[in-house]
Amino acid sequence: MKYPSLAQTQVALRSGEATCASIVEHYLAQIEATRHLNIYVEVFTEEARQRARDLDEKFAQNPNSVGKLFGAVISIKDVICYAGHEVTAGSKMLKGFRSVFSATVVERLLAEDAIIIGRVNCDEFAMGSTNESSCYGPTRNAADPSKVPGGSSGGSAVAVQAGTCILSLGSDTGGSVRLPAAFCGVVGFKPSYGRISRHGLLAYASSFDQIGILANDVADVATLLEVVAGPDGFDATCSHEPVRSDTFLKTATAGKAKIAYFDTALHHPGMDEGVKNLTLDFIEKLRAAGHIVEPVGFDYLDYIIPAYYVLTTAEASSNLSRYDGIRFGHRTAGAKDIHEVYKKSRTEGFGTEVKRRIMLGTFVLSAGYYDAYYAKAQQVRRLIRDRTEEILQKFNFILMPASPVPAWDIGEMADDPVAMYLADIFTVQANMAGIPAIALPIGQHPCGLPVGVQFMAGKFREAELLAFSAGLAKI
Ligand code: GLN
Repeated sequence: MKYPSLAQTQVALRSGEATCASIVEHYLAQIEATRHLNIYVEVFTEEARQRARDLDEKFAQNPNSVGKLFGAVISIKDVICYAGHEVTAGSKMLKGFRSVFSATVVERLLAEDAIIIGRVNCDEFAMGSTNESSCYGPTRNAADPSKVPGGSSGGSAVAVQAGTCILSLGSDTGGSVRLPAAFCGVVGFKPSYGRISRHGLLAYASSFDQIGILANDVADVATLLEVVAGPDGFDATCSHEPVRSDTFLKTATAGKAKIAYFDTALHHPGMDEGVKNLTLDFIEKLRAAGHIVEPVGFDYLDYIIPAYYVLTTAEASSNLSRYDGIRFGHRTAGAKDIHEVYKKSRTEGFGTEVKRRIMLGTFVLSAGYYDAYYAKAQQVRRLIRDRTEEILQKFNFILMPASPVPAWDIGEMADDPVAMYLADIFTVQANMAGIPAIALPIGQHPCGLPVGVQFMAGKFREAELLAFSAGLAKI
């Protein structure tokens, strides 16, 4: 890797050791060298080169005129709109669709002089944990190309892991930034619900979705978050809670943290031995560094996944109704009447996992079943959120494994979607409660693959979470 962090990239740019043009060439060469991993669905080659030349020119004219993300080469998940560029959510349904506007995050990246190098692969409509449901085929894990990278932001995680960009934007509805980060040995951060505008993010489950950040370095996450966070007139759920104007890392309190973990999680029957041992060793390191780490009770772990899949499929069935071949999306050829247009267009355009979820979501919302499934799951969500908030009033953070298992083989879970859903057991809580969470690499599993750990913090306590995470590099 040329420069391991944005901060180091910017030092090189300012000293004249590098130019934006040379950095872009480096990443383009790396993208070519890693084609077999199937990371990018589109590379903005000439556009990135042109932008690099323009930024070098701007810097030469006045070094103080460049933005906070000067020289940051960033990839974006194929669910984030960029005006004039295709966006397809990894689906045949949207092949050929071009955004007519840019997502708020994209506008903010560009305004601070970032360079967007391409669009990366993901599970179809961000539904999945492996990247296998993409119509472009799976992205492969750079640590072992026979393994999945995790999902749904698998392309974003491998883009950073394989050194093809310095940062990547993904989306996280139930763990889609943190699970692939853990599987690929990079940092994955999901902010509080409402911290980053969702304007221009193709919706999966709107009350859970957040744009998240993948990076090598926690400080880079903080830099990027500061740029993209904050209120937005285009997203009414976007919070007015102040975003610190100086960096998240500097404003946060240092010192020793009080951390809770759940015995029910670490000793869960689905927990792999190697992941468990690494997590227990990590807890010991935290204690040795002076942090207080204590077990607390949490009775809802086994309710998280069922409630999540009822609520998110319900929201998805509604959100995806716009892809009907008339308003948006693929339109079938030669239908005889309007019903056939809808039916055939959706049958042809959507893949198996998306269809499964639309049907499940339609079922849980249907008259006669609504109370038994959807309303009940809402109540479970409230219980989970309340208990989580209660714990986070007494503790700074909750520690969780990021995943119960390391990355598995491509194809291994193809016939067993429920087994795949269970891999989200530790990441979904943060989306249920709307709180920030980060996955950090903690070591190598005996099988050679990366393992991550996760920390959650109270709502809008990103500063504390990022400062603590940055400090962990030293333990
Ligand atoms: N794996 C989870 C799902 O399929 C999470 C997806 C996501 O966060 N976008 O729903």
